Amino acid sequence: MCCDLKRRFLLLYATQKGQAKAIAEEIWQQAGAHGFDADMHCMSEVDKYNLETEKDPVVIVISTTGTGDPPDTARKFVKKIQDRTLPPDHFTHLQYGLLGLGDSEYTFFCNGGKTVDRRLQELGAKHFYDTGLADDCVGLELVVDPWIDGLWLALKEAFLMQKQKEEMSSVFSGVSCSLSASLHVVNELNLSSEVQSLKLEDERAGSSDILSQQLVGISPVASARDTKPSLVHSVPPLSESALNIPALPPEYMEVQFQDSHGENPHLASLISDGTTFEVPITKAVHLTTEDAIKTALLLELDIAGTVFDYQPGDAFCVVCPNNSSEVEELLCILGLAEKAEYFVSVKVKQDTKKKGVTRLQHIPERSTLKFILTWCLEIRAIPKKAFLRALVECTSDAGEKRRLQELCSRQGASDYTHFIRESHVCVLDLLHAFPSCKPSLNLLIEHLPKLQARSYSVSSSNLYQPGKLHFIFNIVEFPACPTRRVSRKGVCTGWLADLVAPLLHPNKPTLDTKGGNSSIAKISIFPRSNNAFHLPADPSVPLIMVGPGTGISPFIGFLQHRQKLREEHTSWEFGETWLVFGCRHHDRDYLFKEELRCFVENGTLTHLKVCFSRDSSAAEVAPPKYVQDVLRLYAKDVARILLKERGYFYVCGDKKHMADGVSDAVVDILSMEMESDRLEAMKILATLREAKRYLQDVWS
Ligand code: FAD
Repeated sequence: MCCDLKRRFLLLYATQKGQAKAIAEEIWQQAGAHGFDADMHCMSEVDKYNLETEKDPVVIVISTTGTGDPPDTARKFVKKIQDRTLPPDHFTHLQYGLLGLGDSEYTFFCNGGKTVDRRLQELGAKHFYDTGLADDCVGLELVVDPWIDGLWLALKEAFLMQKQKEEMSSVFSGVSCSLSASLHVVNELNLSSEVQSLKLEDERAGSSDILSQQLVGISPVASARDTKPSLVHSVPPLSESALNIPALPPEYMEVQFQDSHGENPHLASLISDGTTFEVPITKAVHLTTEDAIKTALLLELDIAGTVFDYQPGDAFCVVCPNNSSEVEELLCILGLAEKAEYFVSVKVKQDTKKKGVTRLQHIPERSTLKFILTWCLEIRAIPKKAFLRALVECTSDAGEKRRLQELCSRQGASDYTHFIRESHVCVLDLLHAFPSCKPSLNLLIEHLPKLQARSYSVSSSNLYQPGKLHFIFNIVEFPACPTRRVSRKGVCTGWLADLVAPLLHPNKPTLDTKGGNSSIAKISIFPRSNNAFHLPADPSVPLIMVGPGTGISPFIGFLQHRQKLREEHTSWEFGETWLVFGCRHHDRDYLFKEELRCFVENGTLTHLKVCFSRDSSAAEVAPPKYVQDVLRLYAKDVARILLKERGYFYVCGDKKHMADGVSDAVVDILSMEMESDRLEAMKILATLREAKRYLQDVWS
């Protein structure tokens, strides 16, 4: 590595849940070893950088939130570059590389990154490195790791070009322009991207002594007899391969145990703007029968004593704890069961090499160990490779050590994907699978992400039931499997189900959120910044609502609201209202069957279309199975409402595949009814989306 002065580049990140920040920190950390100095800032720190005058390459890591929005920390930045009065050459001086993070389960995959990328291009900025779009659904690291690996060469090329350009311009200013020289530069510029990919392998080899470790001579875990790999066993060639493993991330937290006196902080202190509402759960209803494949519950919250307000279509967040027995188990494995009620102070090490961390925002300054493991850390998170790498150092058994090294190595990438990511392994599963691994508490705190509050769509109308908020959810269930010894429930839905058990089964005792016996459980909620998923302001506009399964939730709120408006304003005109609902079985999971019947009877709902995907039918013509099939049956009405009557179309549900199926059906319908090709129909759909007349609220 040359010992020149380090070359500076600007590194900006915009993070929602901390992933973009962690990746930027990884880039920052690696930069030094490659001879670069990353000047890292959060995108919101607009006083710390200035793109208008930036001469050095810019690297941007940006995630996506909500329905394809950039993270909150990027809002100002995006607003600034979206300014339509900026000239198209505004950023011609700028060269940048962008890494977008997203989740392909959502329709607007990586839209935060794509929006910034598109706009920078429109304003004349140039890529010095191809944009990377990483998908959390399959594993961010599949794109992130190679993207970071390639970044260093791309940066070198960018600096080389810059130098050549500077030299050229000094030649131009001294002597007359030489055509052959400029052609040479142009050629070089064109060639650079091709060369870049060819050189990548060399470069990796060159830097492997800095970033990785060649491991030879350690006996592999798997014997030649093992033909099938598993979480704990590997087979050849991996088990016999030399490994490139990531550099050991520097430790940066310091944890000190204090006394056991005092109070834990209020849950509101865990939320960024501190506005939470502690509200009682006043009702719980089973929406499905015992034999339904999924169990759906409806909960009613009493928000009357608070200033919490909502509109039908809004979503809100529930602050949830980790499962208490998993917390106990973790405490036992860490050998800290006796210290569970001790207050701990978590501080950043003074001499840490990690840049920019002053304190972990999601860990209170003073709280008990149990509080931190219960309310602050996502202990079910899938361990990242950096975490596995750090765990290697805490593992005494040579075979286990080797397997952990394999799982975080470049050579073991597919084993990582299969046995860790796709199997949804969490730290507890790992500690059971690798019993000689004894991590310290500070390692866990460094590597486990913030426990996120879970979002839910409101399923009621404040007008129809003042002071009440309803929401519905499926209890998420993960069955036991080779990597998970016991079955588990979703963090939030499992907790809520336990919490409301006394309301569902009044004879059984239960625990409230604080751990004491109580008949009225309370939960902490806060509003989720919203979205346009609301009823049209003009009630005479027709609307189509498509919501299979729990996707029906916001539409119940819409219908309650409409019903109340109809009662209160008898002279108003109300548009045609369609609801397309789908479930598996008519007699097991047809949610809100009675309520929907009433909405139809009183005229609030003009068309109710329901399909059942698993019921068999004796009819000559098979009935539609899925909501998109129903839409195709009513193609003429869909086209009329969208094209002629300026109606609204809403889709809500728990899978991107459903939302994609619905939008495909709408494109087919539009192209058929307009007698145009699919491309034209897709453009119409894009216009409808833009006009916020085609709205989606989709979660995974
Ligand atoms: P988690 O423990 O977080 O697990 C959730 C997901 O992680 C699983 O579905 C699965 O994909 C994966 N996963 C985690 N661990 C494993 C494992 N061991 N094995 C396999 N897979 C695993 N949900 C509703 O039910 N109703 C709503 O109205 C609703 N509205 C929403 C609105 C918005 C705007 C958003 C963003 C989401 C909404 N959701 C809704 C989803 C909801 O926020 C939660 O994701 C859902 O309830 C599950 O939470 P959980 O903590 O119980 O599950």
